[in-house]
Amino acid sequence: MSIQANIAAVRRAIDEAAIRAGRDPKGITLAAATKVQTSDTIREAIRAGITVCGENRVQEFNVHWADGAYEGAQVHFIGHLQKNKVKYLVGKVSLIESVDSEELLRVIDSRAQKLGIRQDILLEVNIGGEESKSGVRPEEAEALAELAAALPGIRLRGLMAIPPAAQLSRGNGRYFAEMHQLFVDIKAKTYDNRSSMDCLSMGMSGDFADAIANGSTEVRIGTALFGQRPPMRING
Ligand SMILES: *Cc1c(COP(=O)(O)O)cnc(C)c1O
Repeated sequence: MSIQANIAAVRRAIDEAAIRAGRDPKGITLAAATKVQTSDTIREAIRAGITVCGENRVQEFNVHWADGAYEGAQVHFIGHLQKNKVKYLVGKVSLIESVDSEELLRVIDSRAQKLGIRQDILLEVNIGGEESKSGVRPEEAEALAELAAALPGIRLRGLMAIPPAAQLSRGNGRYFAEMHQLFVDIKAKTYDNRSSMDCLSMGMSGDFADAIANGSTEVRIGTALFGQRPPMRING
């Protein structure tokens, strides 16, 4: 199958899942998870209708950015982010989805203030409580969200989660439902503040229909668009 055919099939499946859930398909963004893909593949995906590229690694982002590969699309950063690499992303990517500590949040804020902008971010929540995963604990998310909503260089847009990998094909509904509840609660708490909570990023190739049934507004899809990758840490 071509990337173009894969994109069409995935988009159709997203739309069907939305309709089954009584939701407007337009309310769900398809982000192409482009890790390990070449600049040419990224260009091909954008030509075929991809409007958001999800990048995991700053190094790969820098290469594709220098190549001009993202022209016509936005970039969301979805991988684990080190504080010393924040400067490569702020002001270039439209959303940093993987903010998982107060320290990282403050570094992004100060970089954005230096550039005179506000950087859109999501807080990553470790909803499965896994040792190996990034993300704040669910019970810490609200306090960090309140801080994010108060920082002048930050615009809090919502939450992101990667549920446990062992259950990716089935049974993540409970985690997605918990994420949705957390999203609704935090949205209520930060209302009137400077946040604009409109993004709940969850769902991958194996479980996006389940995520959509539970309120996801952005699914991040790699394998179903580009085929199998060589084995690696998903969050890396
Ligand atoms: C790789 C990756 C995805 C996509 O995973 P697939 O199972 O290939 O669809 C989504 N989110 C993150 C954070 C990723 O690293």
